[in-house]
Amino acid sequence: MKNTFNTKSILDTEIDNKIVICRVDYNVPFNPSTGEISDDSRILESLPTINYLLKHNCKILLCSHLGRPNGKVVDELKMERIYDRLQSLLNTNVKLSKDSIGTHTIDLLPGLKPKEILLLENLRFHKEEESNDLNFAKQLAAFAELYVNDAFGVSHRSHASVDAITNFLPSYSGILMQKEIEMLNQVTNSPNLPFTVILGGAKVSDKISVIDNLKQKANSFVIGGGMAATFIHASGYKTGQSPIETEYTKFAENLMLESQNTNFEMIIPKDVIVSEKFSIDSPYRTTSIDNIDDNEMILDIGPQSSILFSEKINQSKTLLWNGPMGVFEFQQYSSGTKNIAEKLSQLKTATTIVGGGSTAEITRALNLHQNMTHVSTGGGATLEFLGGKILPGISKLNQKDKET
Ligand code: AMP
Repeated sequence: MKNTFNTKSILDTEIDNKIVICRVDYNVPFNPSTGEISDDSRILESLPTINYLLKHNCKILLCSHLGRPNGKVVDELKMERIYDRLQSLLNTNVKLSKDSIGTHTIDLLPGLKPKEILLLENLRFHKEEESNDLNFAKQLAAFAELYVNDAFGVSHRSHASVDAITNFLPSYSGILMQKEIEMLNQVTNSPNLPFTVILGGAKVSDKISVIDNLKQKANSFVIGGGMAATFIHASGYKTGQSPIETEYTKFAENLMLESQNTNFEMIIPKDVIVSEKFSIDSPYRTTSIDNIDDNEMILDIGPQSSILFSEKINQSKTLLWNGPMGVFEFQQYSSGTKNIAEKLSQLKTATTIVGGGSTAEITRALNLHQNMTHVSTGGGATLEFLGGKILPGISKLNQKDKET
């Protein structure tokens, strides 16, 4: 199958007065002490699609999963708190069903008027959601005339509300989904050059497919985070107690060799912040990469590396960033990550794409997300897209060149 993702969106089709079932990603985090939603950005991100459907006089059924109830009803994972937030954000009548499929939804549907919303209960209370059950999907689809997927964050999952449902309804991308597809398509297929990919985070193994897929397009890979230790090790330096993915040292070595003969360069840290302990208050020091003691581990990039990485950032026209430069959760190891986020946010003309997951969280926590061209809402989905995989939640939607 060709990975074109030339998806047809709700903006490209006639949706006036339709009954629409829209898959959203309302898997939001809660504050453990207050029980309140701690970050409602996923709800806010769904509003453009909802408002568009409302403007077009649609009756809207919204469906999502929340947490991991594993096919059982779990009280804390009911959609009530999301329903409350949604109601406070929308100037229309929102109803909450006690189930996704089932009699309560069936009873509420006839009373649903145009420009009204019915939020279904957590899809994962039914095990059939995650097993991509055709019958479950058919029952969901039976509520509506048209399906919209605006849940980019789960588009890599073959689940019933993402995948199987597309067998039963004309299926389109929502506004958020379309934005994700366009931005990530652009960066993977036709980036303005020079194109720099900044990778960090815990493990090389998570990022291998991204490197493999983008090395034909990217001019530079900048490597930080825990994964840098494997590259530093593969370059012949001692990395002390830093976890090394030995099965990937050969990959790192080959990549660095390949970069000497091809168009892309590999940039690894010059200096790092090390400590003998992985803890919030351990003593630490900055050292060049050729002077790491046997009992130390790398926990952040050093100031010289930040300068080196910033120079590369300044020279680039397209930047993709996925993965923190250090253990940002501990204040003393967060500078490398903050420096990169700030540098990217200061660029005036370059395209800056922040790949989802923890990188997106950091960017939002620093309140720099508004300054980036795009902050992806996916975690695993973003990595799989950038790694060139076919995502069922996208590939099964109607494509522009072939209506189904
Ligand atoms: P990822 O999910 O791949 O974005 O990885 C994020 C995690 O990588 C964060 O929890 C960081 O604490 C962790 N991380 C970043 N740098 C390091 C490092 N040098 N050593 C251990 N963990 C790290």
